[in-house]
Amino acid sequence: MNKGRNKKIRARYREIDRSIELTPASDKTLRRFYALGDTMEKVEHPFTKLGRIYKFAAEVIDEAIGDLHVCQAGCAHCCRIAVEITPLEALYIEYGTGHKKIEPLRKGINTDAYCPFLDQDTGKCSIYRYRPWHCRTFHALDNPKYCWPPNQAHMLFGAPEDGYGSPLLLRLAASLCEMNVKAKLGMEVYLLTDYFPHVEPFQET
Ligand code: SF4
Repeated sequence: MNKGRNKKIRARYREIDRSIELTPASDKTLRRFYALGDTMEKVEHPFTKLGRIYKFAAEVIDEAIGDLHVCQAGCAHCCRIAVEITPLEALYIEYGTGHKKIEPLRKGINTDAYCPFLDQDTGKCSIYRYRPWHCRTFHALDNPKYCWPPNQAHMLFGAPEDGYGSPLLLRLAASLCEMNVKAKLGMEVYLLTDYFPHVEPFQET
């Protein structure tokens, strides 16, 4: 694992500084957000809806934090944190990657082990295209030395306990829950590792 060697991003490493200002959503983004709701009504397949939510969330995040975040390929500290996913997302990973999920009996606990989908040689996510919501929203805004061990004072964006840092992301997360209900998959949330406790090496095409 290379721990992230992008020099441009390393130049952004900062000590904890609560004065960072996030960019509020622009009028254009707000208009697109409301238009997305109308469009989604017409979309049939839940995977198509999920893909649209993921795509729009990426745009919202990019607008809010731009290059303030320090996350980069090869730095995988947060791939040791318990990742909660919805049943629809587990199905989407199974559909997109071919990895067979199991039906969890109960919610597990975090063991600090790396996610089974992490390629530990490169530090990259092997299912990047199909990674779940929480892996997409979670970003560090200070020096990654605060990312591990966990529970340190830390500047984060996109964490669920902070309302994802954005009212738009919070609404999109609510839409994701609604989609699970509409697809008759229920509201139960398990860990990614409950659905995929072990995986075979996988090469994304
Ligand atoms: S799915 Fe990918 S991004 Fe998410 S924790 Fe696993 S390896 Fe990391």
